[in-house]
Amino acid sequence: MNVYDAERMADLLAPIGYQTVEEAKDADLLILNTCHIRAKAAEKVYSDLGRLRQIKATRNTSTHPMILAVAGCVAQAEGEEILKRAPYVDMVFGPQTYHRLPEMVARTHRETGTILETDFPLESKFDHLPKPKARGRYSAFLTVQEGCDKFCTFCVVPYTRGAENSRPTADVISDARSLVAGGVREITLLGQNVNAYHGATPHGTELGLGRLITELAKINGLHRIRYTTSYPAEVDDDLIEAHATVPKLMPYLHLPVQSGSDRILQAMNRRHNIKAYRSLVDQLRHARSDMAFTSDFIVGFPGESDADFQSTLDLVDEIGFVGAYSFKYSARLGTPAAAMPDQVPDKTKSDRLKTLQGKLTASQAAFNSKTVGSKMPILLDGYGRHPGQLVGRSPYMQAVHVSAPAEQLGNIVNLRIEAAHPNSLAASYEGENCRKAIT
Ligand code: SAM
Repeated sequence: MNVYDAERMADLLAPIGYQTVEEAKDADLLILNTCHIRAKAAEKVYSDLGRLRQIKATRNTSTHPMILAVAGCVAQAEGEEILKRAPYVDMVFGPQTYHRLPEMVARTHRETGTILETDFPLESKFDHLPKPKARGRYSAFLTVQEGCDKFCTFCVVPYTRGAENSRPTADVISDARSLVAGGVREITLLGQNVNAYHGATPHGTELGLGRLITELAKINGLHRIRYTTSYPAEVDDDLIEAHATVPKLMPYLHLPVQSGSDRILQAMNRRHNIKAYRSLVDQLRHARSDMAFTSDFIVGFPGESDADFQSTLDLVDEIGFVGAYSFKYSARLGTPAAAMPDQVPDKTKSDRLKTLQGKLTASQAAFNSKTVGSKMPILLDGYGRHPGQLVGRSPYMQAVHVSAPAEQLGNIVNLRIEAAHPNSLAASYEGENCRKAIT
């Protein structure tokens, strides 16, 4: 979502004359868009600011002084603390106020002093953002939902992104149409709990994510739909049904389970247990037999025993995840878990993470190997590192490299998978025999 937000900030600033540059030293306005989910990400902000301070000092001796801004969830959570610790920062603004960026920039030119915008405004930022642009890409993100009301005991999101909020269906469909008109073929719908989506329709009713996807699938020229990140307890029958009936919906789902132990899930205030998670996976596989699942895991949550951790390893074996993000539990100030007894020593967390990641890597490699020899529709959406090479994505989000003519860029082409590497697949392009899946 930070990638999406950063692009929207660039879209907002374009009409007042800003364009993106590659190097920090060339920027008139430098925005550090931050993440607060784990302590490491938050601490990095201050070390990055130290580095940027030097760049700003050098720039400010020139005719174009630099405005330095901190955006995102660290800005939201730390607010004034940032201005105290790094007084050379000009603007601090949270994820719900960035639609005011042009006005904030104008204020820094008019007034002296710093700007702090970390309230949760009454107006929705989406009503003030320009239409998203395709930017020459074939795959784009589209935010449909933000915030979280779930209050997992480890998590800061409800405090930084605010309460759950869904965009009206007409706005989402209109943004999707404009991305497709610009050449986009694949859209990934975004939300902190994307499947908690319940957008208002023009008829005064509400649509859930499954039915929104069914509507989006009617857009000609849109060939692939994905969504992330889902909250398991919010997967409803309509969403499962969409996986069965909407071929444009990719057979790939990121479904964070966090732990394989019911005891730990309860302490995390997750609203699923392992039986329910297992049943969800079964229902989705029943809806579409080639469904592939990825997940998020936290190891070393307070009170996690060896037996709890073993349950997590067992679940990985059972489900056969094709990829995952896994993290050591990071105590976040103000969250209930940070004050729980039985915090797990860092060494235990590190050992468990290593064991879990070894298993997840093997599970991903096994899945990738299984695809060797098959033909898959690949959306070729970029140039590879080697001359004549294109890269794309399989339906299961695997990166695929192939030597193919540049005219194939933007097409979905049936390619034969020749080899599996740790993080990607290699495919062959068989010219005219390589029937275009969709152009
Ligand atoms: N909607 C998802 C869910 O099911 O809860 C949440 C996505 S959350 C924004 C991204 C991931 O960061 C979480 O799934 C979790 O694994 C990880 N995470 C959040 N807080 C954490 C913490 N305090 N320590 C370690 N990992 C954390």
